[in-house]
Amino acid sequence: MPNPRIFKPEEPWQAPEGEPIIRIENVSKRFGDFYAVDDVSLHIHAGEFFSLLGPSGCGKTTLLRMLAGFEIPTEGRIFIDGQDMTAVAPYERSVNMMFQSYALFPHMNVADNIAFGLKQEGMPKAERETRVAEMLSLVQIEKLASRKPHQLSGGQRQRVALARALAKHPKILLLDEPLGALDKKLREQTQFELVNIQERLGITFIVVTHDQEEAMTMSSRIALMRDGRVEQVDPPRRLYEYPASRYAADFIGSVNLLEGFVLSQEDNRVLVRSEEAGIDLEVIHSHPLIAGTPVTLAVRPEKVRLQNAESSLPNRLRGVIKEIAYLGDVSIYHVELPTGKRIQFTQSNIQALAEQPLTWDEEVELGWPANSCGVLEQ
Ligand code: ATP
Repeated sequence: MPNPRIFKPEEPWQAPEGEPIIRIENVSKRFGDFYAVDDVSLHIHAGEFFSLLGPSGCGKTTLLRMLAGFEIPTEGRIFIDGQDMTAVAPYERSVNMMFQSYALFPHMNVADNIAFGLKQEGMPKAERETRVAEMLSLVQIEKLASRKPHQLSGGQRQRVALARALAKHPKILLLDEPLGALDKKLREQTQFELVNIQERLGITFIVVTHDQEEAMTMSSRIALMRDGRVEQVDPPRRLYEYPASRYAADFIGSVNLLEGFVLSQEDNRVLVRSEEAGIDLEVIHSHPLIAGTPVTLAVRPEKVRLQNAESSLPNRLRGVIKEIAYLGDVSIYHVELPTGKRIQFTQSNIQALAEQPLTWDEEVELGWPANSCGVLEQ
């Protein structure tokens, strides 16, 4: 998946002296006896595009609303720019929120919608007009300035909402499913635009999304949430390549999970007995593992390769193709092993066209390098 960001060797979250712009310290939110957010601690740095990702109901919006000041934490504290937010009202915080529904004023035209917050703040008319023009140009809707919201498409309304949220130049912008109303193509295009705008303005963005591809494309880091808790916080690439748990491996992208237990470990080469695979599997893992420890091995479908007589990969498994999903650029194959376990692998269709096309019920041999497989201990 492409991520338009250029990764710098030293990211702010790795610099010990860097003071985060947001510190969430052991924050919980209880509704009755139900914990919507349960003991979450996160540090977010200035200029980050930070995503809160997770399935519906995992507490993302509740956490965002506590940052905005619309909900008060039951326990824990939130600091913005070093200041404790406990007694600070939403309008006194250096944050702005772009709502899921966009919440535009239907009776006002686009320019007045964008100017609304500036007017309330008492910004003089001339300055306000300059700022509105800047915002219209930033989100490329100059020609729509005099239209009412009902005369706009979903994508255009989304741009107006973004322009309105950015107009006050907040230090931090909170976005709740900002691209939720857009169709797939427009959403992909807008993801890149959002990143460009965020980088140009240098504002910290915190985005709630349940769409893993969206989070992977846009974010500097992702907090993956589950049942009110944070499961893993990492840059997209790390989350994908080194998921810390079965849940993370399963949530981000597709993955083959194979159960087993450790037979032996020599230096960082581990041998795992897996009944599901029907063979012993070889994997590189640097943490010490005791023989007998139950583990789950995680292999991405794109790391599984077709084998032939000359290939020398370990982890060789024979099976029969049971399903083929053609996705245009790639195809996904489901291969059933003699144990009944199914393994997915993907093949680019340029490669497939050059070779004999694979078909249903064909017997194939698969394999993957020992260093292409993750070991999940939880
Ligand atoms: P979605 O992606 O569906 O918006 P979410 O991860 O943003 O989900 P939240 O809206 O934060 O989830 O809700 C987390 C949990 O807290 C849900 O089970 C929800 O029903 C519950 N919840 C949220 N607000 C309230 C409330 N005011 N009173 C009672 N329960 C609530």
